[in-house]
Amino acid sequence: MTSTLTDTFGRHINYLRMSVTDRCDFRCVYCMSEEMTFLPRSSILTLKEIHNLAIAFVRAGVRKIRLTGGEPLIRPGIAALCESIKAIPGLEELCMTTNGSRLESLAEPLFSAGVDRLNVSLDSLDPSLFKSLTRTGNLTSVIKGIDTARAVGFKKIKLNCVMLKGRNDHEVNDIVAFAIDRQLDVSFIEEMPLGVITEHGREQTFCSSAYLRERISQRYTLLASSYTSSGPSRYWEVAHAPTTRIGFISPHSHNFCDTCNRIRLTAEGRLLLCLGHENSIDLKAILRSDPTNTDLVTHSIHDAMKLKPRQHHFSNDSVEIVRFMNSTGG
Ligand code: SAM
Ligand code: SF4
Repeated sequence: MTSTLTDTFGRHINYLRMSVTDRCDFRCVYCMSEEMTFLPRSSILTLKEIHNLAIAFVRAGVRKIRLTGGEPLIRPGIAALCESIKAIPGLEELCMTTNGSRLESLAEPLFSAGVDRLNVSLDSLDPSLFKSLTRTGNLTSVIKGIDTARAVGFKKIKLNCVMLKGRNDHEVNDIVAFAIDRQLDVSFIEEMPLGVITEHGREQTFCSSAYLRERISQRYTLLASSYTSSGPSRYWEVAHAPTTRIGFISPHSHNFCDTCNRIRLTAEGRLLLCLGHENSIDLKAILRSDPTNTDLVTHSIHDAMKLKPRQHHFSNDSVEIVRFMNSTGG
């Protein structure tokens, strides 16, 4: 039995992002500090618990699940988890956001498991800049991963690019050309002030979507598009390149809260109602109190809707949210 989830502002909530681990093999400069303390393994949800919670969310009204992290592909058993979640009756779409480092070997198992869409983060096409932005990443492996995913049959692949002024914004059109060449979509993301980082000052590197769109328009003709992926991106089509859409995720310059349909589950089982607020409920504790009673969890999810705030307020000169993006489920 499925129902619908509605918050106190009348928004229908049908999209869940589940973080399957807070750990990662990269240390992207906008996402993490160089030295990170990760959660003890005992406080992370087991694969069985993630699956049970997914069942409860779908019963409550979720239709689309995105697995994310941290880096979801470093969690052992990830392909089997995808297969079990994809089989939940009522779920319409299973997606994943990955840094692509392990995609070359895992693309095929993920495709066979029924994953519908992949978002792959790619902030630079310059190997040394890629390395410095991710601190540990290898560009060649990520590109091999993207090409393998296309070869095994993934039709819906989108690049995610966090653009930092003075660091990688000069590559915006090269990334668009890369996306067109491989028939991928691409979203450019404004950096959000999540977690305390010292590598750069976020107010100095802020790169607005309007600025990027202007730069892209100098090389390509962009046509406004009504397409929506049910995420926060606003899309444009590229004239003469119908297989590539360009999205902008603009948490600062274009507040997307009015149409928010999203909730997040952290790797330790906390249901977050908004990226920019700490309101949450501890679903792991509820599940562990009575592991076979998923109805109790479904009821708690409905009840949590009253905690979903109207909107976020991000400012680059202060960090209001101390949790990092990797522990949030980006
Ligand atoms: N590790 C995977 C990856 O990088 O794709 C999935 C998790 S990551 C937290 C999800 C997305 O959040 C990535 O596209 C990443 O670029 C983005 N992200 C991380 N920190 C961010 C921040 N402070 N502001 C905006 N986007 C951020
Ligand atoms: Fe890891 Fe993704 Fe964060 Fe980069 S953005 S450090 S790949 S979790």
